[in-house]
Amino acid sequence: MQDKLVALVTGANQGIGLQIAKDLVAHGLTVLVGSRSLERGEAAARTIDGDARALQLDVTDKASIAAAAERIRKELGRLDVLINNAAISNTRLRPGETIEEYAKSTLPSNVSLDEVRAVWETNVFGVLAVYQAMLPLLREAPVARIVNVSSGVGSLTRNSDPAFPYRSIFGPVYPASKTALNAMTLAMAIELESTGIKVNAACPGFTKTNLNNYTGTQTVEEGAREPVRLALIGPDGPTGTFSNKDGPLPW
Ligand code: NAP
Repeated sequence: MQDKLVALVTGANQGIGLQIAKDLVAHGLTVLVGSRSLERGEAAARTIDGDARALQLDVTDKASIAAAAERIRKELGRLDVLINNAAISNTRLRPGETIEEYAKSTLPSNVSLDEVRAVWETNVFGVLAVYQAMLPLLREAPVARIVNVSSGVGSLTRNSDPAFPYRSIFGPVYPASKTALNAMTLAMAIELESTGIKVNAACPGFTKTNLNNYTGTQTVEEGAREPVRLALIGPDGPTGTFSNKDGPLPW
């Protein structure tokens, strides 16, 4: 078993996940750059100055998840930090279609159930599957941390307020998948309360990435800040919380 802390970041071949991987390496961790394409993962890992290793991991593929857990156990013998970052916002945004147009065609009354299932498969069930596969390793770590990368657009409290600016795009696909992820976060935190493993949800904020066609207003450095902070909290740190870089968010 190696001495250095080991972190796994899912969907780390681009965007906020890649920046989280860079930041954790800069903090001295060995980072596994999860990527559904091994080649893209290897290319991303090469851009990181330090101990970053590509790991093939498709969060919707049972065999891929099991093989990743086995490889971590065999090659590193430990896992201290799990960042569930991988997500998709849709499967079928047409070229030129705006988020508002997509939202209108994905209301509860007209959304394709296949679209809901596909997005939830990655954003919700994928997280749960990776959690289950990695938990035996995390339980063996002296101080383990789990961060689920969520979004403020999934907050039921905020969306209940008519003044919330993103309320008009709250729908069953991406926003509700993040609501469900928040529920999973709390369930995981409650399950692990007595173990010292801390589980928190972090919202990166509206960040310029492929997920939103680079329309975000923040840099990936800003987006990575809260997930990285929560990955590195000490024994007195919180569990079962939802926050962004400015502080707590309502569930
Ligand atoms: P991104 O640049 O599109 O990155 C998403 C990553 O997830 C990519 O590496 C993608 O891999 C990966 N991924 C998708 N499906 C996967 C699967 N089945 N298995 C493994 N990896 C998969 O988006 P991002 O903005 O950095 O998003 C990172 C996280 O931040 C997400 O959880 C997102 O919901 C959250 N978030 C983002 C914003 C924002 O404004 N950007 C705001 C709030 C929350 P490929 O390269 O293979 O597609």
